Amino acid sequence: MDCGDPSREVYAKEREQMVTWQIERRGLRNPRLLEAFRAVPRHEFVPLELRYRAYTDGPLPIGLGQTISQPYIVALMTSLLELNGGETVLEIGTGSGYQAAILGMLARRVISIERHPALVEQAHAVLLRLGYRNISVYCADGTLGWPEEAPFSAIIVTAAAAVLPQPLTEQLAQGGRLVAPVGGYTGQMLQAWTKEKSGLTCENIIPVSFVPLRGKYGWSREDWSRYNDDTDL
Ligand code: SAH
Repeated sequence: MDCGDPSREVYAKEREQMVTWQIERRGLRNPRLLEAFRAVPRHEFVPLELRYRAYTDGPLPIGLGQTISQPYIVALMTSLLELNGGETVLEIGTGSGYQAAILGMLARRVISIERHPALVEQAHAVLLRLGYRNISVYCADGTLGWPEEAPFSAIIVTAAAAVLPQPLTEQLAQGGRLVAPVGGYTGQMLQAWTKEKSGLTCENIIPVSFVPLRGKYGWSREDWSRYNDDTDL
């Protein structure tokens, strides 16, 4: 007998509360942004055993030592990109695919890059199953950007960089926005960059805590932990 899926309604209610209390009441009121967070089923992007916490006010582990960010941080970073719907967005750090899905609702096309093949496969599968057709997920070193489709009017990095990878600033379009957490193990500053005719300008937003960006222009395992030791002294 098909009794429907009672959990769907529970999730929908929790999602509505997440949007109201964690996002809107903290000052992010853009209707398109809020609509995207109402629409994307976050519980589909977290491991089965953690679904009951999918709409709580924090990050969650997604395997391989990686995390899906706190909903508010995803919302804040997305709002800083100032998307109007026509953009091609580059995301570095697909992870669960949740941020990519949100971007997919707000931009024309999303290219998301992840270095862990297992996460690429997982994110690709859930995005396909949920019907997001404007998102491409690739397995590569995201610090090199994606020159094939550059320049991008918006770039979002969802892992911590010591400094902004140069290929990414080069692949940012004139007038484009780049949002990234910049710093080390003990914390980073969320930064919003704009490429203007005169060069890049940077705005510091809030302190955040992300997993490291690896790869050619990212943190090596040794330096990430050495930095930790140094700053702990
Ligand atoms: N945006 C994700 C959260 C990302 S966690 C979400 O919505 O779930 C950061 C991700 O960045 C991790 O999955 C990690 O494997 C990935 N990552 C780290 N360095 C990378 C690199 N150089 N290229 C691509 N992905 C990278």
